[in-house]
Amino acid sequence: MKVALTTLGCKVNHYETEAMRELFVQDGWEIAEFSSLADVYVINTCTVTQTSDTKSRQMIARAHRMNPDALVVAVGCYAQTAPEAVASLEGVGLVVGTSGRKEIVLRVNDALQSKSNEAYISPLYEMREFEPLSAVRDSRTRATLKIQDGCVNFCSYCIIPYARGPLRSRPLEEISTEVKLLAREGYQEIVLTGIHLASYGRDLLDQGATLLDAIARASEPDGIRRIRLGSLEPLFVTEPVAKALAENPKICRQFHLSLQSGSNTVLKRMNRKYTAEEYLSAIALMRKYMPDCAITTDVIAGFPGETDEEHAETLAFCKEARFARMHVFPFSLRKGTKAEALSNHLPKSVKDARAKQLIHLGKELTHAYLNEQIGSVVEVLAESGGAGYSGNYIRVKTSAPEGEIVRIRIEGFEDETAFGTQVE
Ligand code: SF4
Repeated sequence: MKVALTTLGCKVNHYETEAMRELFVQDGWEIAEFSSLADVYVINTCTVTQTSDTKSRQMIARAHRMNPDALVVAVGCYAQTAPEAVASLEGVGLVVGTSGRKEIVLRVNDALQSKSNEAYISPLYEMREFEPLSAVRDSRTRATLKIQDGCVNFCSYCIIPYARGPLRSRPLEEISTEVKLLAREGYQEIVLTGIHLASYGRDLLDQGATLLDAIARASEPDGIRRIRLGSLEPLFVTEPVAKALAENPKICRQFHLSLQSGSNTVLKRMNRKYTAEEYLSAIALMRKYMPDCAITTDVIAGFPGETDEEHAETLAFCKEARFARMHVFPFSLRKGTKAEALSNHLPKSVKDARAKQLIHLGKELTHAYLNEQIGSVVEVLAESGGAGYSGNYIRVKTSAPEGEIVRIRIEGFEDETAFGTQVE
């Protein structure tokens, strides 16, 4: 039997698709390209914007067109938030939400036998346990391990808490077991990821664990040389946290701290839990203990009611923060979120123009950051294709064999890829 899988949306979704793919392989299934004929199509849907819903529906329709006799399986966030709508789409025979992916093969086999439409959607309040999917092997050197799920922050523009449910953390023992296995397989870099990583451990009251404990566990095996962290919250960064991160030489010096806006009034409307000043303090602490670290971020342009002055505040803030990289998104309304009720939604032309300005600034800041690196020596973990990444996530050319860590003095950049000389 052939199964084809595809993903819409974020890195966590991609992670979960890879984990499901592995479960099918273990069960003896043949993996097919999504654009080819298969017996089963699994679409890991996304609902972060209205466009994501549309794209999810389009993918489902595409799978059904490809093979009208195939079982089409819709899983993930859109399936979780709109199960009836998804189940009613032509061709859909199985709907699985944001839990129960571990049993995906079993459910697919059942659905193939029963030939009846099935839906497995756990109510959010029933999602109490972390669903332990295996680590995803991104390359021969780097693997991603999801250690946290769920979010209860309820930012006013975000649908994720309604799709992913409450906080669930992977127990420390399981993290240890997974990273030891990855180290034995030769993986050297582990990316720790989650929906709201900084909340790791808040549900593990009996263990009293925090993200720092999870990082410590992931760092334990000798073979693991690097730990890279997914997106963090500025309020997570206190003086003891910055110090502890700096004291762990395996932690990559690249930290993604979501900003979304540099204006306090916009942050308030977004229901973000920090002020612009608190954000600046967080990155000052990171730079105090790790002067070479790269700070990257996300920014939303044109949030409802954003004035010219508030937009200007964000531009000024980003300059002051000296981000190494910015991911900019024009605001996109997600139905069912609190932002829907906010007044003064901006026209697309204004949102796009502001996004363009922020993207332009982001490019300037990236160039400035990269230029500052010229002359510095970075450790590069060689990957395939004649390049690798430094801890602060600069792509660096190297002819070293995949998996080797080499020290390179950066001499310049070509299209944001550094070149230089290997040093002892
Ligand atoms: S922190 Fe805010 S933006 Fe991030 S997942 Fe939670 S609600 Fe969404």
